[in-house]
Amino acid sequence: MMYIDNLFFAILLSIGIGFFTINVKKLIRNINLGKDVDRSDNSSARWRNMAMVALGQSKMVKRPVAAFLHLIVYAGFIIINIEVLEIIIDGLFGTHRAFSFLGGFYGFLIGSFEILAVLVLISVIVFWIRRNVIKLKRFASNDLNGSPRKDANAILYFEIVLMSLFLIMNATDLQFQAMNNGNIISQHLNALFSGLDIAQVEVIERVCWWLHIAGILVFLNYLYYSKHLHILLAFPNTYYADLNAKGKFDNLESVTKEVKLMMDPNADPFAAQPVDENAVPSKFGASDVQDLNWVQLLNAYTCTECGRCTSSCPANQTGKKLSPRKIMMDTRDRLEEVGRNIDANKGVFVPDNKSLLNDYITTEELWACTSCNACVEECPVNISPLSIIIDMRRYLVMEQSAAPQSLNAMMTNIENNGAPWQYNQMDRLNWKDEN
Ligand code: SF4
Ligand code: SF4
Repeated sequence: MMYIDNLFFAILLSIGIGFFTINVKKLIRNINLGKDVDRSDNSSARWRNMAMVALGQSKMVKRPVAAFLHLIVYAGFIIINIEVLEIIIDGLFGTHRAFSFLGGFYGFLIGSFEILAVLVLISVIVFWIRRNVIKLKRFASNDLNGSPRKDANAILYFEIVLMSLFLIMNATDLQFQAMNNGNIISQHLNALFSGLDIAQVEVIERVCWWLHIAGILVFLNYLYYSKHLHILLAFPNTYYADLNAKGKFDNLESVTKEVKLMMDPNADPFAAQPVDENAVPSKFGASDVQDLNWVQLLNAYTCTECGRCTSSCPANQTGKKLSPRKIMMDTRDRLEEVGRNIDANKGVFVPDNKSLLNDYITTEELWACTSCNACVEECPVNISPLSIIIDMRRYLVMEQSAAPQSLNAMMTNIENNGAPWQYNQMDRLNWKDEN
């Protein structure tokens, strides 16, 4: 019987990890659909960024209540999962509480986990109340309607169930209770089961034990479909984030080359250029996810849908149809759609007459952006919705000449007069003659 249990556990674990591996491969494949961008520079600043922003959650502190609660859930998630290691060893080798040989230290660990589990339960309930009873504005807005809102709640329910299973498992583990080492919370819960006989208590303990590990494996595999992917991706996302000062835009290489050629008096525009006959003509800007770079796609999968960007966006605050959070969610949804297309067509993307532009993100949203960078500043995991907006605008301007009339007038003025205004260049210093 013991061996059958171990075998069943090994199969369950293999299935859980197997599916997770498939999802990770799909995730990497989808992110690699993006264009190349070099983020291999300045690795010390990148590690620092990751340590401060992802591990230290330094950008969360601007909203201290949420930051404190999030820290508890985060610490709980990371630390309590040390317990999972023991569960895996017990499950595979038929031991019971394999780490209990650590004695007092084991008690310290389990005691800490139990306290954390209670704190996580309280925090998660407060999170649920903020979303569903108080209905904070950034959680009540329309861009979360449907599955994003359900996803946010589902994960809260998940955590409540996992933490409860953990505590009940400890409370009904008679051997553990007899040790009286680290059962700080569970010894009180143990009284709830005093009316049951030993066999019944043992059954409850085993059921909680199995459900706890099965729940963790389900959670692991649910991550790919959830905004909670940020638990894993916040780390690479902060590492590969743009290190340039906010407001510094990247130049399009092809345009820069043209401009340099125009400005260089010694350049020979008719000089023979190497021609690659197989080269696909490059598109200016982005109209679909494959035109974005891989860091922008990583950003889309990392978005926590917290809405800090949208709640600080001046366009959104003044009633414009723009939510930087929606820009990131749309990018992820379209990327997933492209990924499913590739899966269904034996590894090749078959054009589906859809694109990120228009089918997901409208020009009205794109032109509502003031490019103020508030969303980038606020994002707790260093995402830049603005960089996607700018690339899509570049496409509209350079490929479709579809800028709003006011911008077209300004660009014509710059072209003709070297300034955004309608004055002749010769009149630029007239102001000095005024009285
Ligand atoms: S950069 Fe654009 S999207 Fe971001 S906060 Fe400013 S206006 Fe909103
Ligand atoms: S882009 Fe950043 S701030 Fe905006 S919803 Fe996503 S994680 Fe939150």
